[in-house]
Amino acid sequence: MFSGARVLCPYTGRDVVGDVLVDEGRVAMVRPGGGIEAPDAEKIECSGLVLSPGFVDLHTHLREPGEEHKETIHSGVNAALAGGFTTLCAMPNTRPALDSRIAVETLLERSEGLGVRVVPIGAITVARAGERLAPHHALATAGVVALSDDGSPVSDAALMRRALSYSEPTGLPITSHCEELALSAGGAMHEGAVSARLGLPGAPASAEEVMVRRDIALAEETGGRLHVAHISTKGAVEAVRDARARGVPVTAEATPHHLLLTDEWVAGWGALDGEDRRHNVLGERAYDTSTKVNPPLRSREHVRAVVEAVRDGTIDCVATDHAPHSATDKECEYGCAAFGISGLETALGLLMQLVHRGELGLPDLVRLLTVGASRTFNLPGRGITEGAPSELALFDPEREWVVDASKLLSKGKNTPLDGHTLKGRVLMTVAGTRTYRVSGMEVR
Ligand SMILES: [Zn+2]
Repeated sequence: MFSGARVLCPYTGRDVVGDVLVDEGRVAMVRPGGGIEAPDAEKIECSGLVLSPGFVDLHTHLREPGEEHKETIHSGVNAALAGGFTTLCAMPNTRPALDSRIAVETLLERSEGLGVRVVPIGAITVARAGERLAPHHALATAGVVALSDDGSPVSDAALMRRALSYSEPTGLPITSHCEELALSAGGAMHEGAVSARLGLPGAPASAEEVMVRRDIALAEETGGRLHVAHISTKGAVEAVRDARARGVPVTAEATPHHLLLTDEWVAGWGALDGEDRRHNVLGERAYDTSTKVNPPLRSREHVRAVVEAVRDGTIDCVATDHAPHSATDKECEYGCAAFGISGLETALGLLMQLVHRGELGLPDLVRLLTVGASRTFNLPGRGITEGAPSELALFDPEREWVVDASKLLSKGKNTPLDGHTLKGRVLMTVAGTRTYRVSGMEVR
């Protein structure tokens, strides 16, 4: 039993201090003000802690099948639990890709009984090769909740147009990895003053904006359902804001790293206090390959615009783009390193910096991690109400902790936050009958 927690549930609109009793994988009782008598239940003292519905991630790379040395369904699920997530949408860029009914069914079978709900996203094109459409209807009936070639854009505009026109009958959002490869090719980081200083080839912000605008035009024309993955530039959020004002049904997600980290992190100037260190010599961690991600960490101007778009509702939800890699993918020259950040376990702690800085309210943050995400993909809501499945995250908004990459439960230790102090930590996650607790980092 959770005793005296701040129960913050955006599904029900509840924000009260009270008790919540969980029994056999269900929420048995919710009592604002407290006073539940349950002598047989373990009592967890939650004064000062927040109990929210389990977080929902619309963008996770699980790597299984094909790259189990980077992550398995099992290790990814454990990382999710450590981060407060009880639902993961698995991206289809596995080997083979999730482009067939059998691949989707295999993922669903393998993730059964792990507590965390693993929800597949199907590929837009066969083998994500961008040449011909995957069988969208068969993927829909197999249980995918969206379609994406994430990791690669669908460069052929006519093919993307057809995918969007089919999204109406299937009801599946098309999640677009917006990147014009002719502009971004060879880029290792965001193109700007920092890339010039470091002598690294840059990918310009326009590489993202051009394709966001293309896809919005295609969605508007076809009536298709477009979702923009990991939005990261000022121009891209302006395009989405304008489209929504015209009534185009486009949604967008932002990652924790694009909301909090800038390209200065690549120069080793990274700090979470927002202080300007650009005048300094390169930091000790300059060229740290764990900062290499696609889309790249942007300059301050873009980060500010993405935060503003979260505040004004242009961006619907936060998604981690959890992209675990092995040491060999990252221990090399910056230009050769793989793109991606291991993000499930640091998501809340990183995002809480927005709350501590006064840029976002705590209820808004919880909304972005729960109902904002589940609504975007039409997933069933899992509110904290009596009889609902127990999918809960308990966190301490004030708890400071130092990120130790070697202790992450994900196989991907690739985080630029290694050694940094975050304020805000998930202490416990309940996913059905499975429970994770931070103390001792054990999962049972
Ligand atoms: Zn992507």
